Amino acid sequence: MHNAVIIGGSRGIGREITRSLQEEGWRTVVCARHEAADSESLKKDGCGFFRCDAGDSNQVRELYRYTKGILPSVDALIINAGMAWEGLIQDMPEEVFDELYRNNLKSAFLCAKQFLPDMISQKSGSVVFVSSMWGVIGASCEAAYSAFKAGIIGFAKSLAKELGPSGIRVNVLCPGFVKTEMTRHLGESVAEQMIDETPLGRICTVHDCADAVLFLCSQRASFITGQVLNVSGGMVI
Ligand code: NAP
Repeated sequence: MHNAVIIGGSRGIGREITRSLQEEGWRTVVCARHEAADSESLKKDGCGFFRCDAGDSNQVRELYRYTKGILPSVDALIINAGMAWEGLIQDMPEEVFDELYRNNLKSAFLCAKQFLPDMISQKSGSVVFVSSMWGVIGASCEAAYSAFKAGIIGFAKSLAKELGPSGIRVNVLCPGFVKTEMTRHLGESVAEQMIDETPLGRICTVHDCADAVLFLCSQRASFITGQVLNVSGGMVI
């Protein structure tokens, strides 16, 4: 039996990662800032759901305590929480920049800091950060989001070097455009534009993301660390 914590797993990509892990027999603890629409089902069969803002160190400590009461160990930590904002840089309020930093990058630091010591003691574990293709190639009108997603990549590569000797693997998933709550407001025209620009001729799905995360967490990826896996249908090559 393997155990995973999914930061930001109440909907979208994180929810599908959780569903897929459970289907493969993993026990999961999921967190999000708000109660999930199906939080009861997330709590079934020895699994857990905990309301937590991953950008707040006190709440992350509470999440850790809750997790200790549910899971005997944490074999995989999936750091998926994030938020986006589109607009010209000159129109971006400073508070929005700070909020993006908190949700996309500080949350990753706080969760890694809280959960890694146990993995170091057990000398095993897999950490997967969910970044974005925009963190690799940059996105017009998403400069701050792209910066924090790029920050995740640097953070993960450094941790891979720091934690490899402790038997911990650290990798990054960079999805292409996925239809979720986060992108709903962008509408069909943006989705169509993404399809036009993607060599494989479709947009990314939550299933594509979950399959890649499952692989990175599995024994099949046991010699893979510090890598950025672009799941973008060839948009990033
Ligand atoms: P989503 O549908 O908005 O889901 C985001 C999840 O993260 C929700 O469960 C949300 O729940 C949680 N979350 C956000 N901030 C949090 C915080 N501070 N603490 C705890 N949980 C938090 O977004 P998504 O499209 O599935 O995106 C998931 C990840 O993939 C994000 O990191 C995003 O940047 C990245 N990504 C998305 C796309 C895309 O096209 N959709 C592409 C590339 C990368 P609450 O709001 O209740 O906290």
